[in-house]
Formats: sequence, C-alpha cells, structure tokens
Amino acid sequence: MIKYDYLMVRFGELSTKGKNKKDFIRTLYHNIVNALSDFEHIEVQTRYDHIYVKLNDNDYEPIVERLQDVSGIHALSLVYRCEKDVDLIKEKALEFIKLEDGQTFKAKVKRSDKRFAYNSDQITRIVAGHILRNTDLKVDVHNPDILLNIEVRDEASYIFVKTFMGAGGYPLGVGGKTLHMLSGGIDSPVAAYLMMKRGVSIECIHFASPPYTQEGVIYKLIDLLKVLNKYQPKIRLNIVPFTKIQEAIYDHADESYCITLMRRMMYRLASRLAKRRKCLVVSSGESIGQVASQTLHSLAVINEVTNIPVIRPCAVMDKNDIIKLSYKIKTYDISIRPYEDCCTIFTPKNPKTMPSLKEVKFFEEKFDYEALIEEALNNVEVRYIEKNSDEEL
Ligand code: ATP
Ligand code: MG
Repeated sequence: MIKYDYLMVRFGELSTKGKNKKDFIRTLYHNIVNALSDFEHIEVQTRYDHIYVKLNDNDYEPIVERLQDVSGIHALSLVYRCEKDVDLIKEKALEFIKLEDGQTFKAKVKRSDKRFAYNSDQITRIVAGHILRNTDLKVDVHNPDILLNIEVRDEASYIFVKTFMGAGGYPLGVGGKTLHMLSGGIDSPVAAYLMMKRGVSIECIHFASPPYTQEGVIYKLIDLLKVLNKYQPKIRLNIVPFTKIQEAIYDHADESYCITLMRRMMYRLASRLAKRRKCLVVSSGESIGQVASQTLHSLAVINEVTNIPVIRPCAVMDKNDIIKLSYKIKTYDISIRPYEDCCTIFTPKNPKTMPSLKEVKFFEEKFDYEALIEEALNNVEVRYIEKNSDEEL
C-alpha cells in the first residue's frame, strides 16, 4: 500500500530574515536531530530552507508526538514526496485520497516553484478532475470531509491530508540563556518551560537552606529537570547555600520584613551568578499578587537590587492556568510532592505587602551581607541533569 514517507516541518510565519532565519533553521535542525536520536533509520533533511523528516520504516505517530515538544515547530504535515510531474501528482493524489473516509473533498494547491509549467489553478483543476472521474467523491469547497493539499516546491512536490499542531515559539538556543530561579513549586517549572518555548535556554539556580530544608528538595528538582530535559537535553543546576544569609536576616530584621529581604538577597545572588555564567537575564515563577512578596509594591522593592532584566513569564497568569500548563508539561505531580522550602520555613505571620525601601535598607545596613553573598557564591554546588542519564544523589 502507498505510504506517506516524510514529515514536513512548518515554521509558521517567520518574522526573521537573512542570517537570523538561517540560525533559526540550523538550530531547529539540530534540536530535531537531538529529539529523535533514539529512533533508528530516521533522516532529518534540509532542502531550500525547509526541514523534512524521512520516516523510512517508522510509524509517524511516536515521531509526531516527540516533535510536538520541540519549540520552533509551528506544525507538522505527514507528506508524500514525489517528482514535479503533473501526471504523477494526479495519480498519487488519487491513490492517497482513496485511503480516506468521506464523501466530499477539496484540493488545495500551493506552488512555490514559479518555474513549474502549471499554475496552482491549473493543477487544482487537473487533480480534482482526475479524482472526480475515478471516485464517487464530490467537491465541497466550504466544508470538505477531506482536504487534499498539494505543494509544488523547488526540490519536489508534496501530497498530504494530515497536519498536526506543534509547540510553536522559537527553537531552543536562538534566544540566549537565562538563569532561572527554580524552587520546586508549581510555578517555576512552568515559567522555565515558557522561557524555553521562546527559544531561551535555561540554567537553574536554587537556594537551599539545610538543615531547615531537606535533601529531598534536591531529588524533587532533579525529577522536575528530567521532565524539562524533554525541551533541553542538558540543564545545569546551581545550588546556592542560603542558610547563613537567611539566619542573618532573621537575626537583624523585623519579622514582617524577612521575606522581602530574603528575596532581595536571592536576586542579588542570581544577578551575580547570571553575569558569571553569561546569562543575559534572570527569570522566575513569580505571579502578580499571588503572595505578599509578589504584589507590585513588593516586586518593585525586591527588584531594586538589580539592573539585569528579570523576566517573569507567569506574572499575569491566573494560578488555574499555570496549573493547567503544569499538567500539560507533566510537572504538576512532582511539584505537589510535599517538601520544606526555605520560603515556607520562616514564613512570617504578617509579611509586608507594601514594604518600604527605607526600612528595608535600614535592616540591611545592620549586617555585612556582601561577605555572606560572596561566600555563598564561592560554595555553589553544580549538577548537570541530562536526558537518558540516571543522575542520582
Ligand atoms: P512556585 O512559585 O514555583 O510554585 P513557590 O510558590 O513555592 O514555588 P514562591 O514563594 O511563590 O515559590 O516564589 C516565587 C518564585 O521565586 C518561584 O517561582 C521561584 O522562581 C523563586 N524561588 C522561590 N524560592 C526559591 C528557591 N528556594 N530557590 C530558587 N528560586 C526560588
Ligand atoms: Mg509561586
């Protein structure tokens, strides 16, 4: 039986041109090769600024499913490649349409090779006429049961009826690197996913406060990152010892200010590590109004410690939508595992929703946090979480 032999990768409307477009395609090509590395007999090809995956003997379903996690792919069409010969096209189109269920069809032709002897209207008429003469199908241009697509491109022509949506966004790696604050809650893995979807690769920072927080948190982070390895095969996790800083804050500041101060310290640490690690921005899972430290007043006072751009992809999302996304990317079940976080342990009864910068500075002047920050940065523990590896503690 005749079979579709390629997946055609669609980028959507590329706003980028020239070198950026070449980078986009080259990066996406490598990401696709990586994502499919464990399938045998797969060929990823580029032809005239397009990417095709030759299926050989593979079923298309698992490959489509895998590619739907690769950012930068707008859609995937299951296609048959044939020579640019209008008689051959009409014969093959007939064979493929006979495999479909339905009473009506529409032929949709796109001709990007303008040197081809027939224009798209002529091709449509030739192909549709041939199908009408050889089947019981009728034409319905408004609401057809079967949409038969034909594309005549530079290197070949393509016949297809099935198209699957991709993740969209940009290929991972074209957008530089962020230092992402990963806490083990629901929001921060979702925020990481949203950054990656924009083509930004991630490196993570986690603030650990042993013995107040347990080693179990790190297991949780590793499990979360293993899920995110689907989008980025190797992720660096920087674990920053945070206990001394937290204790110093609680020794010197009013309880209601502790969270504000703690978060200012987190951003100081993250900004400095970001510069050292050549990350262009810092990102987090903060969402406006979610807790006292995430009111706009709090965010403004917290952000005052840094001038590195801070991106908060979940900032304007409802918690419900963040949760839905975490289901979709399969981080939810890991995120809800109980654990003690440095934020949950010292949670004050009345955290400030409108902290004053003057008071914050008053408390911060009471201790030498600079020395503590340097010490923490000199004792960062690094782990790499990789696809297909069994990272254990
Ligand atoms: P999440 O927001 O991921 O659900 P959470 O709600 O426990 O976790 P918040 O207290 O809301 O975390 O903190 C907001 C953001 O600050 C987190 O999304 C994360 O980006 C960052 N953050 C909080 N705690 C830590 C930590 N221990 N290490 C690294 N980043 C952290
Ligand atoms: Mg949160």
